Amino acid sequence: MTKTVYTFGGDAPHDDPRQGDKTITGGKGANLAEMASIGLPVPPGFTITTEECLTYLAGEKGFSDGLRSAVADAVAHIERATGKRFGDASPDGPGPLLVSVRSGAAISMPGMMDTVLNLGLNDETVEGLAATSTDERFAWDSYRRFIQMYGDVVLGVNHGLFEEALEIVKEDNGYYADTELSAEEWRTLVDEYKSIVASELGEPFPQDPHEQLWGAIGAVFDSWDTERAKIYRRLNDIPHDMGTAVNVQAMVFGNMGDTSATGVAFTRDPSTGTRRYYGEYLINAQGEDVVAGIRTPQYLTKVAREEAGAKPLSMEEALPDAYGELARVFDLLEGHYKDMQDIEFTVERGKLWMLQTRTGKRTAKAALKMAVDMEGEGLITREEAVARIDPMALDQLLHPTLDPEAERNVLTKGLPASPGAAAGKIVLDADTAEQWANRGDKVILVRVETSPEDIHGMHAAQGILTARGGMTSHAAVVARGMGRPCVSGANGISIDRTERTLRIGSREMKEGDEVTLDGGTGEVMLGIVPTVDPELEGDFGVLMEWADALRRMRVRTNAETPEDCRMARSFGAEGIGLCRTEHMFFDASRIRAVRQMILAEDEAGRRGALDQLLPEQRADFAAIFETMAGLPCTIRLLDPPLHEFLPTQASEFEELADATGLGVDHLKRRAGELHEFNPMLGHRGCRLGITFPEIYEMQARAIFEAACNVKASSGEAPLPEIMIPLVATRRELELLRALVDRIADQVFEEKGIRLDYLVGTMIELPRAALMAGEIAEEGAFFSFGTNDLTQTTLGVSRDDAGRFLGPYVEKGIFARDPFVSLDIDGVGQLVEMAAENGRRVRPDIKLGICGEHGGDPASIAFCESVGLDYVSASPYRVPIARLAAAQAALKAREG
Ligand code: ADP
Ligand code: MG
Ligand code: MG
Repeated sequence: MTKTVYTFGGDAPHDDPRQGDKTITGGKGANLAEMASIGLPVPPGFTITTEECLTYLAGEKGFSDGLRSAVADAVAHIERATGKRFGDASPDGPGPLLVSVRSGAAISMPGMMDTVLNLGLNDETVEGLAATSTDERFAWDSYRRFIQMYGDVVLGVNHGLFEEALEIVKEDNGYYADTELSAEEWRTLVDEYKSIVASELGEPFPQDPHEQLWGAIGAVFDSWDTERAKIYRRLNDIPHDMGTAVNVQAMVFGNMGDTSATGVAFTRDPSTGTRRYYGEYLINAQGEDVVAGIRTPQYLTKVAREEAGAKPLSMEEALPDAYGELARVFDLLEGHYKDMQDIEFTVERGKLWMLQTRTGKRTAKAALKMAVDMEGEGLITREEAVARIDPMALDQLLHPTLDPEAERNVLTKGLPASPGAAAGKIVLDADTAEQWANRGDKVILVRVETSPEDIHGMHAAQGILTARGGMTSHAAVVARGMGRPCVSGANGISIDRTERTLRIGSREMKEGDEVTLDGGTGEVMLGIVPTVDPELEGDFGVLMEWADALRRMRVRTNAETPEDCRMARSFGAEGIGLCRTEHMFFDASRIRAVRQMILAEDEAGRRGALDQLLPEQRADFAAIFETMAGLPCTIRLLDPPLHEFLPTQASEFEELADATGLGVDHLKRRAGELHEFNPMLGHRGCRLGITFPEIYEMQARAIFEAACNVKASSGEAPLPEIMIPLVATRRELELLRALVDRIADQVFEEKGIRLDYLVGTMIELPRAALMAGEIAEEGAFFSFGTNDLTQTTLGVSRDDAGRFLGPYVEKGIFARDPFVSLDIDGVGQLVEMAAENGRRVRPDIKLGICGEHGGDPASIAFCESVGLDYVSASPYRVPIARLAAAQAALKAREG
């Protein structure tokens, strides 16, 4: 029978491969078992599988007899391994067994799931714990923690009520820290907590440890379906049908006085990637105290403490033995997992216990540095280094940082929690952040501290600023994961939420005022500070070189201005995959001639206007050819429906009437005639070239004249690839290819220069994909225009999909937005078929993709699998595509 519960620690066996499978036992459970199996000190416990979570959520939310008995056996395992007994209240002996109940999904979801600590305490066992530990303060501190956590997480009592009660006790006694409360004061508070629960719920706090345990297990299962978990999954593309495992583990206590502590650590610096231990800890504390921002955590290492100029002793100084043991564990774990680890630990009366390890989240910069360093250290290979970097994370590095020369009016300083520069308007809550961002504002989310409810606002914001919390606080961890700059724990900030104002340093500000954050230094500055371009050398350069050596596909860019072309080349573009000529038509200086051409009554009128456009287009192409210096440039002839260029405002009509001498009424009538019911399927693409050949003639002439001129002046021959859009039939391409060839011959004759060039087509209609074999007879290349191909294959208009795509993705109808990530099953089939048929007819046919998908790693992997020659992406996506193409090639090699 399939196991539903796996034990770890003590003498538990770890030989079942399912226990190491994160999809079954979750990341936390699999790693706890793995740490135990390599001999690290892990408190004994057990993991209930994700499968049981799904069964529970799908059914009546009950527990099967099978599960109940497997859990009973597993509890017995912990009792054997610890010598303690669950529910044991006796004053002598080892004390009662207390456990933590923790969630753990296959993919870590920081802060999403709720943990209950000290479970097993009740009015009797707390006395047993006090007696056996000979520490009453500790026992009652643990009990109040348990009631608060269990009350909040499992019973749904508002945690503010508990916090308020505690605040009052502290205020009455003039205490600053929780640790100042005496045993007696905690005991009184426990009574108060119990009456809070009783009055909120109408029944007493559950005293039976087994009832507590099952309540907590159910709460973990239920937490998979909470709104905040769903939002996190949606934002991170995590499937909704994986479920979470439950980990039940013997408690170890960091709150047993000054030789006990709890902490979180990284084996390397997750912000910069530097190879040195990094972390925070608190003496005499438990669980989430470190990340919750209740007390300011202390540094792990002496160096870090000294650098920060902090007084409270580092763990290295305060608990040297436990620290030494921890450093040994760090090295073991890095050697074992061959990657930087993010660790949670507790020291109980001087003894170190490991509570979690996982591959640590990092900034893109740190990811690159670690990958390159680890290759140098011999820990990983080049291929592993390339495979390890998330291509999308590169985005963080390609964007500007603060200009070091720029003046900075620094208002205050916090912790440099996530690097990069961010500027925008202050907003004080997540909903406002989302609303303002939706209307196009750049916003900075400022909070006392963030919580999982703020995720959507953090996503909408350029950067995050918090008044409290350390480098491992919720804000810091989530911001680093999202690639948002973050300054945390900026003490110089106070927020007045009712007035919606705040003080930063000595300055009074209000929501909407502008600030700039430097997540690399922790500085908060007044106004918008200018930025400089990113650094593309160093680790980035090294890793990209490795990637280039591994990839098969070429990477081009979608660009139509010399600036974009230059930027794309600096990012490594190897040509232009899509130059949209219509963008040149929209230019303010030419739109009048374009409109004149469109509104002309006859061919002669059109030719007159086109003659004015010719020199302008020629100059556009010359600039592009010069910038691209001999690299292939795919230029698409005019594509959009003509009415897109027409005036809409009365004033524009008047201006045009003045310029052309045609009356406003006349112009309006002509414009009305051009109206289409369904312009995306209307008079556009090659249909324009077929009906108004003079437009394509002008464009072809501009391209060839520019190419000849550039060759004559620079000696470097451009390689134009002229692309006919929206072809559905072979005959369309045949006619238009003849047109282009004719103009090419004319121009070459006039200039006395001959150039290589190609004429090909976009494959963006299902019929073109189906008839690709025939069409390939006329075209030297195919470029898959997957934006339109997605629209036309799915029958979904990209401009209108916003209304239903959200629910479609949520309900799993589409795995992802098909305009962002290619629908491989459907649209992909057309691409594959067209590629095969095209190659069959014309073995040397050039195949590429120029839709948005050319910059999406999953779609790029598909392009590799069907053997496309290149992908084309917007300039900022070029490095992403280079890396994704290398990873795709590596995967293909592995088979
Ligand atoms: P998260 O997924 O939010 O990190 P965890 O399940 O790791 O939640 O629990 C949070 C914290 O609770 C841990 O970092 C640790 O400090 C504490 N904790 C969990 N289990 C135990 C345990 N068995 N003994 C002591 N502390 C524990
Ligand atoms: Mg948690
Ligand atoms: Mg944890």
